[in-house]
Amino acid sequence: MIDIKDLSVSYRDRLALEKLSLKIVGPTITGIIGPNGAGKSTLLKGMLGIIDHEGQTLLDDKPLEKELENVAYVEQKVNIDYNFPIKVRECVSLGLYPRIKLFRKLKAKDWDKVAAALDLVGLTDYADRQISQLSGGQFQRVLIARCLVQEADYIFLDEPFVGIDSVSEEIIMDTLRQLRDQGKTILIVHHDLSKVTSYFDQIILLNGHLVAAGDVETTFTEKNMKETYGSQIFMTGGV
Ligand code: ADP
Ligand code: MG
Repeated sequence: MIDIKDLSVSYRDRLALEKLSLKIVGPTITGIIGPNGAGKSTLLKGMLGIIDHEGQTLLDDKPLEKELENVAYVEQKVNIDYNFPIKVRECVSLGLYPRIKLFRKLKAKDWDKVAAALDLVGLTDYADRQISQLSGGQFQRVLIARCLVQEADYIFLDEPFVGIDSVSEEIIMDTLRQLRDQGKTILIVHHDLSKVTSYFDQIILLNGHLVAAGDVETTFTEKNMKETYGSQIFMTGGV
């Protein structure tokens, strides 16, 4: 279980996330939904403790910041360097490092895990390519494979589907559903409202503060969406 207690984040003197308290009980695929600037990325970073914040997040009753090896996190794409000279299989193997000693040579069974993860996301044939040679969707699948080998119980993905092809998106969602069915708790920052009912078990609606959270059936309502998006909702043609 994730237990967020009074989490607030300010950038300089501007409040980006206001005193958010919330429990997320897995296994689940939970969407974090809200307009641009709503604090979605800030919520994940605050939970992870990688930015200044007030309040605390517990992961199974322990501070989440101390349990980072049990959380696989893929940040929003803008921040990732595609041109880093590394092969696909090496990039995926980086997911092993929270659990093994840095600079220890990987063993055959570690590479088997990498190969299995690449197989699951349909990239076996790309294992020896440079990541700079991949499409955006293929690269996002590499990042998902890296999460898989980490064998974390919690997976946080920030806008994983932006700018990727629909085949990659389907492969990633299928993989995530399998992981949820194995017991994992998955949080996905997402802004395409048309996918909400097919992708998520639960949603968290944000607009600088928590608007609502809960099962999709009870939470994805016109009233809540208007409160989250204001008049923007009419332009998206969402609900
Ligand atoms: P979202 O992911 O929902 O689009 P963010 O969490 O990235 O929103 O940002 C929430 C608010 O905080 C926005 O107004 C954004 O401009 C601001 N913000 C985000 N990161 C920083 C930063 N590093 N410095 C200053 N302001 C920031
Ligand atoms: Mg964001």
